[in-house]
Amino acid sequence: MHILVFSDIHGNLTALEAILAEAGHFDAAWCLGDLVGYGPDPNECIARIRELPNLQCIIGNHDAAALDQIDSDTFNPEARTAILWTRKILSDSSWNFLNGLPEKIELDEVTLAHGSPRHPVWEYLLDTRTATLNFDFFSTPLCFVGHTHLPVVYSMGTDNHLAHLNIPEPNQKLVLQTRSIVNPGSVGQPRDRDPRAAFAIYEPETKTWDYRRVAYKISEVQERMQGLGLPERHIHRLSAGW
Ligand code: ZN
Repeated sequence: MHILVFSDIHGNLTALEAILAEAGHFDAAWCLGDLVGYGPDPNECIARIRELPNLQCIIGNHDAAALDQIDSDTFNPEARTAILWTRKILSDSSWNFLNGLPEKIELDEVTLAHGSPRHPVWEYLLDTRTATLNFDFFSTPLCFVGHTHLPVVYSMGTDNHLAHLNIPEPNQKLVLQTRSIVNPGSVGQPRDRDPRAAFAIYEPETKTWDYRRVAYKISEVQERMQGLGLPERHIHRLSAGW
C-alpha cells in the first residue's frame, strides 16, 4: 500500500499538482494541515485535496486562523495580511470543510498532528529536546507532523532517552524501524532553502518512508500572487525556498 503524506500546501495549487503528478499511484492521502494561508489558490487546493482517495486530513494553524478561530494579530503583519485575504475569498464549501477537520487523528500505527502530538495546532518541533518530550504524547509507533516546513525524522533509540535527528536526502528511502516523529516538509512553501515541493510516500507493510522533492513552475504562482496584491515577501521567498 502506498500512502501519500504531505503538509503545508498553503494555497499553492501549482506545487500541489506537481506532487500529485510525481507521486504516481497511491491508495490513500494523509494531509497534515495548513491547506491555506500565503498562497493564491486556497479554494482550488481544498477542492483538489477533498477528492483524493481515502483522505485523512487535520487542521493547521493557518486553517484555524482563516476560520477566525485564532486571532490574526498573533501572526506577523504579512502573514496576517494573507490570512485576512484568505478569510475574504474562502467559499462556504471550503469553510465548512476546514471547519470539520480534527486537530489530531490516531490510526492503527500512525498519529497525525500538524505541529506536534502535545500541542497539535501550535507547537514547532525544531530540536531534539522538544521532539524527545513529545514521544510521551502519542501511543502509536509513528507520528507524522508538518508546521515547520522542514523535512526531518526524529527517531527514538531503544534506550528511550533522547531522540536522534536525521535530515533525509531527497529520494532517500528510510525504514522507520523504531518509534519516530516524521515531517515530510512543505508542498507550497518549503523553508529549507530548497524551493522544490516536498512530500513522502509511506508504505506501512515495510515502514518505508520515501521522501521526495519535485520542481514546479514557481513563477506562475508568483504572478498570480502579484495580481492579487499578496505580500511581496511571500512572493519572493518561494524562489529561495525559505
Ligand atoms: Zn505552515
